[in-house]
Amino acid sequence: MPESDQPNYSNEPELIDLYQKPDKIYTRSFKGYFRNLRLAGGAFLFLLYFGTAWLNWGGRQAVLFDLPERKFHIFSATFWPQDFILLSWLLIICAFGLFAITVFAGRIWCGYTCPQSVFTWVFMWAEKITEGDRNQRMRRDKGPISVGKILRKLAKHGIWLGVSVATAITFVGYFTPIRDLVPDMLSWQVNASALFWLGFFTVATYANAGWLREMVCLHMCPYARFQSVMFDRDTLVVAYDYNRGESRGSRKRGVDPKSQGLGDCIDCSVCVQVCPTGIDIRNGLQIGCIGCAACIDACDDIMDKMNYEKGLIRYTTDSELSGKKTHFLRPQLLIYTGLLVAMIGLFIWSLSSRSALELDVLRDRNQLYRTSSDGSIENTYTLKLANKDQRPLSMTVKVKDMGSLSSRSDMHFTVNAGEVAQHVVRLALPAESLDSGSRDIEFIISTDQPDIPPVTAESRFIAP
Ligand code: SF4
Ligand code: SF4
Repeated sequence: MPESDQPNYSNEPELIDLYQKPDKIYTRSFKGYFRNLRLAGGAFLFLLYFGTAWLNWGGRQAVLFDLPERKFHIFSATFWPQDFILLSWLLIICAFGLFAITVFAGRIWCGYTCPQSVFTWVFMWAEKITEGDRNQRMRRDKGPISVGKILRKLAKHGIWLGVSVATAITFVGYFTPIRDLVPDMLSWQVNASALFWLGFFTVATYANAGWLREMVCLHMCPYARFQSVMFDRDTLVVAYDYNRGESRGSRKRGVDPKSQGLGDCIDCSVCVQVCPTGIDIRNGLQIGCIGCAACIDACDDIMDKMNYEKGLIRYTTDSELSGKKTHFLRPQLLIYTGLLVAMIGLFIWSLSSRSALELDVLRDRNQLYRTSSDGSIENTYTLKLANKDQRPLSMTVKVKDMGSLSSRSDMHFTVNAGEVAQHVVRLALPAESLDSGSRDIEFIISTDQPDIPPVTAESRFIAP
């Protein structure tokens, strides 16, 4: 066990050099229930991330954030800049979801689903298959340079780089159609902006999951900082059962620990060796713990071998550890969950009642009105219409309560699916009705599709 991992048993205050170089963490491989759970979850997330980019839907990429066209396509739905309020809403829902989960189950997001953790586990797997398990890696790093050592390191960095490049291509592929991007890359025809982001995300993935690892969780992630204030005594956390484990110490298998004045912890330090952030959970809950449960799996394995009951390290609550009842249903959790459900309901309602049409009316700014040869007064309007539907729409323009106004332009036109069209409308007031003067008017646009309600926009008719 490295010296820095040893708990401080003395009463002397511990001096910590804030600028000391952190020891490199060599994680040990392990097996167990939570590892399998994380593997299944990670495989699903990888499939989702890498697979979705290649899915097609209705003749285009199923999920595409088309920034030049300012349209976000998510399967059959297309979001326009006007819908950004929905996107903000979605982010707020995610934040509240995270709050509710944190209050209930601590850093479960960090341990199982955070991209930083998922990619770090993949990179650690690459490390293991190329350079061996913990002890082999430590020995090799301390040993002299050899051809075998260089080849192993090259293989590891090759896999890291391969995963990083695939991650970057997929990420950029959500913004530039991936079926064009990959052939463009192969024929060296990628545009400068795509090339920059490909480079950026390759370096970011390689550095974060390969080199920085726990530093991201410890020093860079804002969520790690504020989530601790959401914890209470009833939050589910990964914890060491101090009362059961102490006093810790080695013993022979089959010996009754009580007869030696010992608890169940055999002080093997395996729980520390598997920890991706290098902490000793026996020292209590720490900010570095990402709740990955690797120490649970490792310790359960030791307990099995010693014929002790599993769960010396387990998911539990502070209340349970101190012999009190855990209250899962508590006001903080109920408030977060209630708000979350209400916001999801409102979001679904806003999404389903979102109009498929968007109408803007622009008056001709150069000329307030025009007097035509027959003495009538004409006003010109540009109707800007966005068809957010998946079908081409045939539209009809009407003016509410036209009165003496008449139209001097075609009031029917078609807008293709997902397009914005401009249509100029000229309204005229006959010379004999001039005394009725300027007035507010309302344009009504209806379509040939009965399931799309008409939209309206106000403007003004100006007369001398
Ligand atoms: S793995 Fe279990 S038995 Fe071994 S040191 Fe950790 S808590 Fe103690
Ligand atoms: S202490 Fe345990 S749960 Fe926390 S990060 Fe380390 S291995 Fe994961």
